Amino acid sequence: MRGRSPRHLFLLAIVLFGTISESPRAHASIVLEHPFGAGEHAGSARERYGILRTEGELGLSSATLNEACVRAHLDRISFQAIPSYSPYQNYCELPVGKLPKDVLALTEKVEEMNAKVANVLGLSVAEAFPMNVGITISADFRGSLVSEASGGGVYLTSLPDWTFADFSSKIYVHEIMHTLTFNEGPTATALLGLQDHPLLIEGLPDLIAAVVHESPKMELGEKELPDCIRFLRDATPIRSFDDPFSRYTTIANADDIVQCCGTLNLKKEASFTKSLCNYYVNGQSGRLQKVADFVKEKGIETTPYDDAHRKAPFEAEECKIRTATGLVYMDNCDLHQFAYPLVSFFFRLRELTGKSYVTEFFGKIREGAERVAVYECGYSGPKVTEFLGGAKSYVSLRPVLAPFIALRESMDSAAQSAFDQAWKEHAFGKLVDLDRLYRKEALPGVAFLAVKAQNPLYRDTYFCDDAYQFDAVDCAITCTKKL
Ligand SMILES: [Zn+2]
Repeated sequence: MRGRSPRHLFLLAIVLFGTISESPRAHASIVLEHPFGAGEHAGSARERYGILRTEGELGLSSATLNEACVRAHLDRISFQAIPSYSPYQNYCELPVGKLPKDVLALTEKVEEMNAKVANVLGLSVAEAFPMNVGITISADFRGSLVSEASGGGVYLTSLPDWTFADFSSKIYVHEIMHTLTFNEGPTATALLGLQDHPLLIEGLPDLIAAVVHESPKMELGEKELPDCIRFLRDATPIRSFDDPFSRYTTIANADDIVQCCGTLNLKKEASFTKSLCNYYVNGQSGRLQKVADFVKEKGIETTPYDDAHRKAPFEAEECKIRTATGLVYMDNCDLHQFAYPLVSFFFRLRELTGKSYVTEFFGKIREGAERVAVYECGYSGPKVTEFLGGAKSYVSLRPVLAPFIALRESMDSAAQSAFDQAWKEHAFGKLVDLDRLYRKEALPGVAFLAVKAQNPLYRDTYFCDDAYQFDAVDCAITCTKKL
């Protein structure tokens, strides 16, 4: 970290500012649950522009926690609707000797994973985890598939008969990366301006999970699932930005599951596989229709999921949606799918050079955090007063291309050739378009979400909650570039 230049202090102020405000809990899940979710679920990840003080810092004092939890930076392990466990017990408050063996095993695995995550990020564990977090294991008929993160920790979903054998450490690492990004600390600081970049928002958690496990496969917890469902994402062989658009749509993940189910003899599969397949196969036709209906109902302009578009090579522009009021979001793509080319690129680079460059890449992201564009944004309509709607939000943006270029420049010439080869094989030239969309066109939309999170009373008074449909005058936002 550099000295305390005024610029540095200003950035620090931005990082600390939002800690005062109260705001909704940020979420980010392992899969996209609702196509076009900006108004409801998926968009809530972006609400963290208004979140800087989160539940992660409001936990119990370590005096009441057992030493296994303390070592794992956990202040809570709790269960919801898992019959073998009490819903009222925080297992971090039980003495280690009284912990059920599966809970102790979970705690030890989390401690091991946290150390590995910190190592990949180039940090000590104490640096990487400046706060304690909580783990909730919660029953869901979709098993671990709908696990998600919040500022306070991770929600690992499971079938109701959870045991430690159902714990997917890959999902845990993915989710804890979100939690580290939601909370103040070196990870969030390093990612300033890139935390919502479409390539990184879901791709980076997958990349760190892949490196920690030395495996490019994102894996669900339930061992009874057939491989083509259990390995939720497998970034091998090469998964490129030239893959067809169908690989990046908001229904791509559901398409994969449906396709997998079509290859199975369901009579011979475990009951969980049957129920998951039924759920996805039955929803298949409705899913496409739901996207089309939503687009029509909200007056959204975007690329349709017709055969011609879906079969043609991906273009970043296809992710773009324009709302009736002119805001631009990247909601026509499932950003989880960008984990494929990102993980694939770094695994290919390792294959070609014999070396993993992910820690170096994160180092370049960190080094670039001071060269970020910062915008001060706020409501600008006639009804705004100092006390209602007057709170400003700071939105920071920078290109993801810069850390890639810095990484390449730090390599010797043989590694540079390998980098260029992997770059070409993955059609990473398309990152130029993705960066442009993120930095130039998406700002008003991102600002809309950030500002409404900072001004909940104004938002609710003047109906500025729905990012797709709102009053253009009352909910108008202006941004001024500060840095
Ligand atoms: Zn995620």
